[in-house]
Amino acid sequence: RLYNEVQELKGNIRVYCRIRPFLPGENVKQTTIEYIGDNGELLIANPSKQGKDVQRMFKFNKVFNPAAAQEEVFLDIQPLVRSVLDGYNVCIFAYGQTGSGKTYTMTGPHLATEKEWGVNYRALNDLFHISWNRRDAYVYEVGVQMVEIYNEQVRDLLAKLMRIGHSNRSVGATALNERSSRSHSIVTVHVRGMDLKTGATLRGSLHLVDLAGSERVDRSEVTGDRLKEAQHINKSLSALGDVIYALSQKSAHVPYRNSKLTQVLQSSLGGHAKTLMFVQINPDIGSYSETLSTLKFAERVS
Ligand code: ADP
Ligand code: MG
Repeated sequence: RLYNEVQELKGNIRVYCRIRPFLPGENVKQTTIEYIGDNGELLIANPSKQGKDVQRMFKFNKVFNPAAAQEEVFLDIQPLVRSVLDGYNVCIFAYGQTGSGKTYTMTGPHLATEKEWGVNYRALNDLFHISWNRRDAYVYEVGVQMVEIYNEQVRDLLAKLMRIGHSNRSVGATALNERSSRSHSIVTVHVRGMDLKTGATLRGSLHLVDLAGSERVDRSEVTGDRLKEAQHINKSLSALGDVIYALSQKSAHVPYRNSKLTQVLQSSLGGHAKTLMFVQINPDIGSYSETLSTLKFAERVS
């Protein structure tokens, strides 16, 4: 085992919280973040009210503060990514309300420079790099797949990409952005390796998941397609929560069949698979109640 890291966590599930910075042009400067500890502690507060009961402490495996660079985040998870080359199944996903930085963490900002690359590019780059370095001892085959789950339908995004390439680019980008907050997007990397000396083979996989926005939708305000989307998102995110919760409790029954999302991810959730969840937080005071429910979701599964 070349990249077999220490497994210190129950159920092979770890939870990292990442707080995004305030953005240039955001004039709200009041934050919910009271305190970030060195050992994964996070204290949030609602400063618009007074009193002890509006503060709440959480504890995760790690908390990245708003200044954390993409590279710093990736360096932390690099051993996990590389364990795919040892035959592990790994699942990394980002959970949080729309605008909390899920896509930034997984992909990077729109038109990212190399420095701003997110986990997806860095992971692929790293896997290709390592497999090239080891070419005298191992031969690796790497396949990449990209799908979207929207309203419980799985669609191939690579096939769709070609069509978008032929259509008006800015229209395509805007439509994609809109849509991305209401669909789950999954990049899957399959690796097959062979030890050239012994002929022994192995398979590993990496699922990189940018989840649909977790925000509650006001039922009195949405109807039709928006309501349907919201119901599908709700259902699949709670199915995901239930699966991870069952795994963290080491329960005998894991309810994978309750959503397309958990069905697609089944091979990389549970068993010997390793799971990492990025819990994304918008620091703005206006997001306090969404932040609280995001952190509670994460607390349940960690
Ligand atoms: P989501 O995918 O959760 O809806 P985004 O990733 O699109 O959120 O982030 C919302 C905005 O915040 C984007 O403009 C993004 O570039 C910016 N952003 C998010 N996280 C960071 C970060 N860590 N550093 C700088 N900008 C960030
Ligand atoms: Mg997004």
